[in-house]
Amino acid sequence: MELDKMDENEWKYHGEGNKSLVVSHVQLPRVLRLLKYPAEDCENPPQTPEQAFRQIQNVVDFSSNVMSSLLGEKFIHSGEVVKLPLEFVRQLSIRAQHQRPAMRCDKVMDIYSGCALCLPNLTSPTLHQPTHSLPLCIEIKPKCGFLPSSKHVSKDIKTKVCRFCMHQHDKVARGKWKRRSLYCPLDLFSGNRQRMQFAIRQLIEEPQNNFKIFKGGQCIYSSKEGSDDSLDLNSLLHQLRPYFTYGNNRISHVTGKAVLNDFIQVLVNALLSGGGGGGHGGGVADRCGEGRSFCEASLFNKERIRHGSQDLNSNSVLSRILQTQMLDTLNIEGLHPLYRRVEQHLQDFPKERSRLQVDGPYNEAFLETLQKCPAEDDGSVEYAAAKVHQYRVAMTAKDCSIMVALVPSPEEEEEDDDEGLSSQRWLRDFHSTRPPAFSYSVSILDLDPKPFDSIPCQLRLDQRIVSCYLRTGGALP
Ligand code: ATP
Ligand code: ZN
Ligand code: MG
Ligand code: MG
Repeated sequence: MELDKMDENEWKYHGEGNKSLVVSHVQLPRVLRLLKYPAEDCENPPQTPEQAFRQIQNVVDFSSNVMSSLLGEKFIHSGEVVKLPLEFVRQLSIRAQHQRPAMRCDKVMDIYSGCALCLPNLTSPTLHQPTHSLPLCIEIKPKCGFLPSSKHVSKDIKTKVCRFCMHQHDKVARGKWKRRSLYCPLDLFSGNRQRMQFAIRQLIEEPQNNFKIFKGGQCIYSSKEGSDDSLDLNSLLHQLRPYFTYGNNRISHVTGKAVLNDFIQVLVNALLSGGGGGGHGGGVADRCGEGRSFCEASLFNKERIRHGSQDLNSNSVLSRILQTQMLDTLNIEGLHPLYRRVEQHLQDFPKERSRLQVDGPYNEAFLETLQKCPAEDDGSVEYAAAKVHQYRVAMTAKDCSIMVALVPSPEEEEEDDDEGLSSQRWLRDFHSTRPPAFSYSVSILDLDPKPFDSIPCQLRLDQRIVSCYLRTGGALP
């Protein structure tokens, strides 16, 4: 990829979030992640090209020096900042525009800085083994997987119903989504296979922005944002069937339910595994004792747990994300006064902003500050700043996505099958309850640092969500 000879025709719209728009190369396994601005700023970019470059460099540094050490290097691809020709970026934005979902068009792609983050395309992984099948990639944005236990929490409901479940009521009330998602992160993070399967079923049912499936780099399943068309589960089943119709191909009556069950089981295995690289099946650390907490809003029936509780393998992607999320020990209610302490200090001593690394640099020293933060508040600004750092890191872990790439294991594919996916056969016993073997790789994406100034908004958002829930949701079943 030669940066001075970029051809917009070789790139296509891939997806976007709230902060960035992503385009993928049509041949190379690469994506470019570009910044977005509020549409009202489109004539007048809110930052200079130098500031945009710094912002993206901060993302790379935060991901490679801070998040990768907390989450595990094997899951992280930090990428690099690139400077692109402005004409290329302008053409790209025109090409992308008509594919963007309406609900995202309150923001425009940055066409002024020429800066972007270049990353490996995690939806078209390069394979170490040749295989006939296109990889299946599943993106999950799991959100916060624990209930706060901080003494600063002022509303009892926050210790019973998780943030995601409460937020759903607010989102529906504000018209962001037509229907509530019944996914509960506490079920996904539980380490209990049944609860995890239940959680994934709910994600499939109502994906919102928490679930997507890609096949060969193309998104084949996601929420039709802003519309209430019921998703075409049948078309998903049609796409998944070739991957799960094992046994022999005369058995064409494998039910849709069985296909979906197997798919979910393979996904759960990948999420429970030590992660990274190939390998089959999951390695659950089967420990006794009560499982992790339950959310009262989850529709999972606790009585259905047949095999006791299981815990997450501490090396699994979910465990690493959860541990990092739990750096939020005080909850926003306990953190906000410490934020105010730092803010006050910076008003009195503006030059302290750089010593306290409020806006970076996100280097080893930043990581060390948050890792060595004392347990007790000594009243210092250093303590307050370290707690704010921890909280911001936890926020990133609550907002990241997991990408699971699945490829049927070559040894289980029939060697001389050149009829493509439709006649795929699997060399395994149809009656086995074990799902077919896949090679998988697990990555974490979207690891931007959350700005220091976003903390007051977090407090307001928390208050709004809780009061909306108490007003509307708490009373409903
Ligand atoms: P959010 O609103 O969740 O914070 P964001 O604006 O920070 O999102 P990303 O989540 O990083 O943006 O990217 C938007 C989407 O682009 C992702 O949900 C994913 O589908 C896709 N994407 C991002 N990075 C990659 C990658 N390296 N490979 C493949 N797809 C990617
Ligand atoms: Zn919940
Ligand atoms: Mg995202
Ligand atoms: Mg993001």
